Amino acid sequence: MTRQIAIDGPAGAGKSTIAKRVAKDLSFVYVDTGAMYRSIGLYMLKNGIDIHDKDAVEKASEKADVRLSYIDGTVHVLLNGEDVSTQIREEEVGKAASVVSAYPQVRKNLTALQKKLAETENVVMDGRDIGTCVLPDAFLKIYLTASPEVRGNRRYLELVEKGENPDLDEIIADIKKRDEADMTREISPLRKADDAVEVDSSDMTIDQVVAKIESLV
Ligand code: C5P
Repeated sequence: MTRQIAIDGPAGAGKSTIAKRVAKDLSFVYVDTGAMYRSIGLYMLKNGIDIHDKDAVEKASEKADVRLSYIDGTVHVLLNGEDVSTQIREEEVGKAASVVSAYPQVRKNLTALQKKLAETENVVMDGRDIGTCVLPDAFLKIYLTASPEVRGNRRYLELVEKGENPDLDEIIADIKKRDEADMTREISPLRKADDAVEVDSSDMTIDQVVAKIESLV
């Protein structure tokens, strides 16, 4: 029997940073499901497939082989053998991921892959539907949130750090749009599982959130 921790929540709540830390502390494997949806989004952009054409995306997604590979403890995302770990972090890829993740076939394939990973390893898995659909029997489920303003500001600072010149209002508007799309889609919308513990990280540091989750473990 493997052990599973599910961390869900909206974009920019800090899920991946927190999940990575908790996984490292517990010697569990970190599984970034958003990276998988981003890879499918990237595949469509690279191959000139209209992301709004559901049938075309579903058909093309069969040719996109997505794998996670662990090199020196860091997770790398491979798309048909190519390391796309950096490319998938582009803003445009995130938006494409949000569109293609609403299609049933895309979700079916990636959900199967995610379940399989959790069968063989102890995992900390983060995403939108982990506690509700992918790992309904996870021994700990966290719903990590923060206000759109706080999430937008964190993203803004990240981009400034990278030397970019972002517009804060635009970032916050994009975050709200993505939340809306993820929460209202028909299949596996983002929602808190009934047995998940909600953690609002708006006024918490990363260390405090990690400590809170580890105390629940
Ligand atoms: O978490 P991240 O921002 O990398 O996810 C990108 C997009 O992938 C999300 O906006 C969401 O639409 C989709 N996603 C999903 N289900 C998951 C993980 C991500 O639908 N389990």
